[in-house]
Amino acid sequence: MENNEKIDIVIIGAGVIGLAVAAELSSRYEEAMIALVEKHDTFGLETSSRNSEVIHAGIYYPTGTLKAKLCVEGKELLYDFCRRYSIPQRQIGKLIVANSIQEKDSLESLMKQAFANGVDDLQELDQAQVSRIEPRITARWALHSPSTGIVSSHDLMNRLEQIALQNGVLIAYCHSLQAIEKISGGYRLQLTNPDYSTDEIETACLINCTGLYADQVAALAGIDIDHESYRQYPCKGEYFSLPPAKAALVDHLVYPPPLADLAGLGIHLTKTLDGRLRLGPDSQYTDNLEDYSVNPENAAIFYQSAKSFLPFMAPEELEPEMAGIRPKLSGPGEPFRDFLIREESDHGLPGLINLIGIESPGLTSCLSIARLVSTLV
Ligand SMILES: Cc1cc2nc3c(=O)[nH]c(=O)nc-3n(C[C@H](O)[C@H](O)[C@H](O)COP(=O)(O)OP(=O)(O)OC[C@H]3O[C@@H](n4cnc5c(N)ncnc54)[C@H](O)[C@@H]3O)c2cc1C
Repeated sequence: MENNEKIDIVIIGAGVIGLAVAAELSSRYEEAMIALVEKHDTFGLETSSRNSEVIHAGIYYPTGTLKAKLCVEGKELLYDFCRRYSIPQRQIGKLIVANSIQEKDSLESLMKQAFANGVDDLQELDQAQVSRIEPRITARWALHSPSTGIVSSHDLMNRLEQIALQNGVLIAYCHSLQAIEKISGGYRLQLTNPDYSTDEIETACLINCTGLYADQVAALAGIDIDHESYRQYPCKGEYFSLPPAKAALVDHLVYPPPLADLAGLGIHLTKTLDGRLRLGPDSQYTDNLEDYSVNPENAAIFYQSAKSFLPFMAPEELEPEMAGIRPKLSGPGEPFRDFLIREESDHGLPGLINLIGIESPGLTSCLSIARLVSTLV
């Protein structure tokens, strides 16, 4: 990147969201000079590669929220995109299971919520129907979501990067945004380079896709993140794997009913595209944005929370696998918060677009989020 270069649109952060925005804007605005700036030496090393890789159906989120709308739209866009570009995905479906009357009530609420969100393909199953399709799990009742699937997030990001590059996007890896200065007609950005020198570039339009750091980047632009409720509360989720010998026992993703206020979807069983089974994620608020360790002692908690519906597991079989960190806008015990995606003219910052709190279903929604951003540019 040249010092003092003037660029029409600068996107900060090459996770799945920044890459999708770069691919979308460069397809739409062929004449614009667009740069994507990322502090690591390649794409997707943070949350976008540390998640369940589930293409969510859009069941859970309150109707009318961006999470509901962008998930339902994004799911269709993502399946189409994966088919068009041969990105590994499988629409394996998911079961949300209930083993008590209270949990059964949750399934009924979820069914209504899903329907209101436009997800009209859920099926209610009784015990006999569940055991026909998943004989190894325990569920007195279940909701079957046939449109839920799994996707290779790496292949998805790889393709989005290729599209952006083919469309002429300048991708600057190993460049970290350090400072934002409001200038006439846009922003002057200070970036640190691999050799620790700094460059300044100017842009009319700045798009903040920095995931876990999105609130801090908004603060660099001069936004009072506490006053505006932009502060993110990082929430770690650990995963444990099950032995390969157990992989053939289950075909679907298997979830309990979600946690209160959607703090998480509950410790669930996912299948990876290469057929492995893993359990997680849990929800632990944290101050450390770089600690991706998994505490082996948590295996007992994972076992306890899933043994009621996964009776084939033994506690000693759970092995620490990986962890991801959610950029949540709701702190511990706080109610549901939606994605925050906005152009900041009313804060005196025209041309700045912030994407904050892009937790799940951000991967599912990446293409619909990119479309929404293109309407704000
Ligand atoms: C445990 C867990 C499970 C999840 N499961 C699912 C799921 O199954 N399905 C689903 O749809 N969603 C899921 N999600 C959510 C999904 O992973 C995220 O919504 C999505 O990955 C967010 O992508 P992003 O690009 O916003 O963030 P990131 O992937 O974090 O990318 C942000 C990028 O910005 C860069 N950056 C930050 N600051 C700077 C700076 N100053 N200068 C330059 N670059 C910078 C970072 O290095 C990073 O590469 C899950 C999330 C977690 C944590």
